[in-house]
Amino acid sequence: MPELPEMENYRQLLSSLIVNRLITGTEVTRAKSINVEPDRFDRLLRGQTVRSMGRRAKHLLFHMASGDTLVLHLMLGGVMFYGTMEEKPDRTVQVRISYGDFHLFFIGLRLGYLHVVEPGQLQTMMAKLGPEPFDPSLDQQRFGELLGGRRGTLKSCLVDQGFISGIGNCYSDEICFDAGLQPGRAPRSLSMDERQRLFDSMRRVLSVATDEGGYMDMPLYAGDMLTGGYDKQCRVYDREGQPCVRCGATIVRADVSSKKSFCCIQCQH
Ligand SMILES: [Zn+2]
Repeated sequence: MPELPEMENYRQLLSSLIVNRLITGTEVTRAKSINVEPDRFDRLLRGQTVRSMGRRAKHLLFHMASGDTLVLHLMLGGVMFYGTMEEKPDRTVQVRISYGDFHLFFIGLRLGYLHVVEPGQLQTMMAKLGPEPFDPSLDQQRFGELLGGRRGTLKSCLVDQGFISGIGNCYSDEICFDAGLQPGRAPRSLSMDERQRLFDSMRRVLSVATDEGGYMDMPLYAGDMLTGGYDKQCRVYDREGQPCVRCGATIVRADVSSKKSFCCIQCQH
């Protein structure tokens, strides 16, 4: 499932591809993917422009000139592609937003959705989300305090969108590896130094992964060399049985808080 780096990569790329371009039409082939009737969806978008692209947690936000916002959550298996009909991947498209000969295709939206949200509703929709990892008001000390009050494991905390938003199964493991901490550790057992390390690793891993295009393997547009660049750089996630890049021990898979998790039991403590 795409996490902060994947959605942030999409946000940055789409900002230069679609912002201020006139929407000439839409097509919805799976009505369940949206929250209004397809006719109304078309009326709300046709003739409009996206004024800016935003992101909150794992949601991508298309802020329309009309004041409405399109809220996209890709969930498991959702991807996007921008290009002509000829360039489109051979996949079933659930929603299409057209810009003349170019289109933004939403693919694999089985659990994912694209909802039109009126001004004022957006805040309510996002109210239960925890702070963004790069929220300027979140520092090492605040993070350490929040963490100390949590039950469960580091894994369950990091993926809890109410604790911190935008992190999922892949990056929670990568962050724990970077910090040299076992994902199964109880948050309150962490020393102050370990909490600071975890905070620094969270920002470092998410920032590098975003710069490298995240791990989604499908290019966003023809010739896109950035998207998916981080896929080969994951150091523990889905690397069961391979040698640890830090100490050479074997990466193991162990379920933590009922979630699939990967780590090195030699150099993560
Ligand atoms: Zn190791």
